[in-house]
Amino acid sequence: MTPSGSTTETPLHQRITEVTQRYWGFNTLRPLQAEAIQAGLEHRDSLVVMPTGGGKSLCYQVPPIVADRIDIVISPLISLMKDQVDGLRSNGYPAAALHSGLSGDERVAVLNGLKREEFCLLFVSPERLIGGGFLEVVQHMNVKAFAIDEAHCISHWGHDFRPEYRQMAQLKNRFPGASVHAFTATATPRVQLDIVQQLGLINPNVLVGRFDRPNLTFRIEPRVDLHAQIIEVIRRHPKEACIVYCITRKDTESIATVLKANGINAAHYHAGLGRDERRHTQEAFAQEELDVVVATVAFGMGIDRSNVRCVIHAAMPKTVEHYQQETGRAGRDGLEAECVLLYSAADYLRWMRLIERGAEESHEPEEIIKAHMELLEHINGLCTTLACRHKALSNYFGQEYQPPEADPPKSDPLKSNSPDSGIRGCGACDVCLDEIEAMPDSKVIAQKILSCVARLDHSFGIGYVVQVLRGAKTKQVIDWKHDQLSVHGLLKEFDEKVLTNLIYQLINQGLLHRTSDDRPVIMLNDESVGVLKGRVEVKFIEPRAVAPVKTKTEAISWEGVDKGLFEHLRELRKAIAHEREVPAYVVFGDKTLRSMAMLRPGDLHALKRVHGVGEKKLADLGPRFIESITRYCAANDLEVDEPGPPPNDDIIRPKPQRKTNPQRGMAFGMFEKGASVTQVANMISRAESTTLKYLEQFIEERKPEDISEWVDDGLYAKIAEAFDEVGMNLLKPIRQRVGEDVSYEHIKLVGAHIRMRSEQE
Ligand code: ADP
Ligand code: ZN
Repeated sequence: MTPSGSTTETPLHQRITEVTQRYWGFNTLRPLQAEAIQAGLEHRDSLVVMPTGGGKSLCYQVPPIVADRIDIVISPLISLMKDQVDGLRSNGYPAAALHSGLSGDERVAVLNGLKREEFCLLFVSPERLIGGGFLEVVQHMNVKAFAIDEAHCISHWGHDFRPEYRQMAQLKNRFPGASVHAFTATATPRVQLDIVQQLGLINPNVLVGRFDRPNLTFRIEPRVDLHAQIIEVIRRHPKEACIVYCITRKDTESIATVLKANGINAAHYHAGLGRDERRHTQEAFAQEELDVVVATVAFGMGIDRSNVRCVIHAAMPKTVEHYQQETGRAGRDGLEAECVLLYSAADYLRWMRLIERGAEESHEPEEIIKAHMELLEHINGLCTTLACRHKALSNYFGQEYQPPEADPPKSDPLKSNSPDSGIRGCGACDVCLDEIEAMPDSKVIAQKILSCVARLDHSFGIGYVVQVLRGAKTKQVIDWKHDQLSVHGLLKEFDEKVLTNLIYQLINQGLLHRTSDDRPVIMLNDESVGVLKGRVEVKFIEPRAVAPVKTKTEAISWEGVDKGLFEHLRELRKAIAHEREVPAYVVFGDKTLRSMAMLRPGDLHALKRVHGVGEKKLADLGPRFIESITRYCAANDLEVDEPGPPPNDDIIRPKPQRKTNPQRGMAFGMFEKGASVTQVANMISRAESTTLKYLEQFIEERKPEDISEWVDDGLYAKIAEAFDEVGMNLLKPIRQRVGEDVSYEHIKLVGAHIRMRSEQE
C-alpha cells in the first residue's frame, strides 16, 4: 500500500495492506499514514499533525501488529481510551487500557496480560505512565515505541496546556533505545516546534497533513436570535447527530430545555453533571438514541461518533484551535457536515474578561496570559473577516489553501469531493456560497446609531441606546426626557435583537468604543466621526435570509444511495449497538452503511467488497446485514447486488424500476418442493447465507405449514421454547439458551415461522 499516486509495492507495504484489510477493511491509506506507519516501524521519532478525522489512530495501531510487538499509547482521556479499545477489540485487534477508572483486580489483570504479551497496544493515561512503578514494568518488557496522543497539550502556546504532559519529557532519557511518536490534530508551527523540543525528539520525521476539511461547510453568522437560529440549523438535520457548543454550563441547560420544548431529541452535558449522568448522555449519543447534545467544551474528546452532521457554536469559542477541534467532530467519516458559529462581539469582550479574571485568580505568568490574548485576537479576526473560511483556517495553521479540484471523479461516489468550477472559492462556506449580504443602507443606519450615542453624551450602555432608538417610552427614558430628542424612535423599524447586534458590529469593526468596566458605556471614537462625516465605509452583515444550498460534497456522497435502505440499516446498527452496549460507530460507520445502501450486497462475498468491512466484522455482522438488505430489497422490489456505480444522471435519480429477482423466484420454487438449502444455493449460485434469507422470506410469504425439511422437529421445539421464555425481540439470549452449536440462521427460521403462525391466528 502506498500513499495515493505512487505505485511501488514492497513486501512491507503488502504486509501493511494485508493488516489494514484484515482488521479494518481499508484498502488504501490516507495521506501521510504510510509515512507515519513507516516511522513507527523503523523506530524513527516522529511528529504527526493531522486534522481530526484524518486517521491518526491507524498510524500507531498498525506498526505493533505488523511487527508483532507491544507499543504504549499515552492518551489523556479515559473515555477516549475505552472507546478505542472497544473498537479495536471488535475488529479482533488485541489491545488494552490502563487508567484510574479500573479496579485493583482489573489493573492486575491488564499488567499480567502485558507481561504475557497478550496485546499489541496498551493505552495509558499520563498519570499511570509516570506513577505506580509502571515504567519499570515497561522497561522490563523492552518496549520500543511510545505514541503520544494530543501532544499539543505539552505546549503552553497550544490551547490546551496540561502540566502533567511535561513529564513525558523523561521518556527519551529513560528509554534511549525507544522511539517516541507524537500525534496532534491542532498545532500551529510554533506549537509544533515546542512539541519537538519538549519531548526531546531526535531527528524526527515531521509529517504535517492538510488542515482543510473539504467536507465541512462553515458558516459564521451574526447572533441575533440565538434560540431561533439554533433551531433553524438543527431542523436542517432531522434525525442526525448535532452538537451545540456553549461557553457556560447554564447556557447548555437553558438551550437544551428550549430545544426539547420544540420537539428536538436533545440533552445537555457539562463537567458539573454527575458521572453517571454524563456517561448516560455519552452512551445514548454514541448509540444513536440521542440526536443533539448541548454542551460545554467538556464534551468532545471522549465522544467518537463519526457521523455528527452538524456542529453549532452558540458563541465564539476561545481560540481557533478550539474551533478547529470542535468543528472537527463533525463529519469524521468524511461525509458532508455543517458547522455554524453564531457570533457576537459580546463574546470577545466576555472571553477577555474571563482571561483577565483567570489570570488574577491563578496568578498565571505574564507569558501565558499574553499567549491567551493572542489566541483570542486570532479567533475574533476569523469571525469578523469576510474571507473564505476554509482559506482563513488553513492560513492560520501555516498552510496555503488549495481550492478543491475542479472535476470530481465519478468512480467513487462516496468519496467526499469538491465542487465544480461553477462554484466560487471553496464552494463550502457562507462567504464563497454568497450567503452573506451587506445590509442595504448600512451607512445611514450606522450614522443614526452614532448620532444617538452622541446625543446621549456617551454615558449609556447598549441596552439603553437601543431603547431610545426604538422609541421606547420607559420611565427611565421619560425621566431623562430622552423621548424629546430627535433621535428618539429614529430606528423604530428594527427589532431589539437586530439593533443590538448592529451596535456590536460597529464595536467590532472598531467604529464605536465600549468601555470595559463593570457598567460599560458606549462612546464615539475617531473612526465614528469618520462614519458620521461619510468618510469611512460601513458594512453591516445580515444573517442569511435564504435556505442554504446543498454543497457538492453532500450531493456526491448521497449519489446512488437508497435513503430508505440507509435508514433501515441505521436501525439495525442501533439495535446491535444496543445489544452489545457499544457505540454505533463500532458496528459500522455511516460511510459503510451508505456504501451498502448503494451497492446492496446480496451475500457475504459482495459485502466483503464494501468499504469498512474487515474479516472479523464480515463473519460477525455480515449475515445480519445481508439479511436486512435482502429483506428490504425484497419488500421494495429492488434487486440486490447493484451491478456498478449509478449512471451519471446527477443528483436526482428516478426511483429504481420494479425489478424481479429471478434467483429468489427460483429458490422459492425449489423450497416449495422441499429442496435443502445447499441444493438451492448451488442451483441459484448464491451463498448459503443469502439462500437462508430467501428461505426465511419464503416462510414469511408462502407460509408453509411446517418447516421440518430445514429444521428438525426436536430443534424446532427447543428454539420455540426459548422464544416463548425470552420473547421475540433478541436473538442472542435465545442462542445462549439453546446452545452455541445452534446457528443464528436456524433460530431466525424458527422465529419467522412462529411469527407467521401467530399472525395467522
Ligand atoms: P483522528 O484520530 O485523526 O481524528 P481517526 O483515527 O479516528 O482520526 O480516524 C477517523 C476515521 O477515519 C475513522 O472512522 C477511521 O476508521 C477512518 N480511517 C482511518 N484511516 C482510514 C483509511 N486508511 N481508510 C479508510 N478510513 C480510514
Ligand atoms: Zn470559502
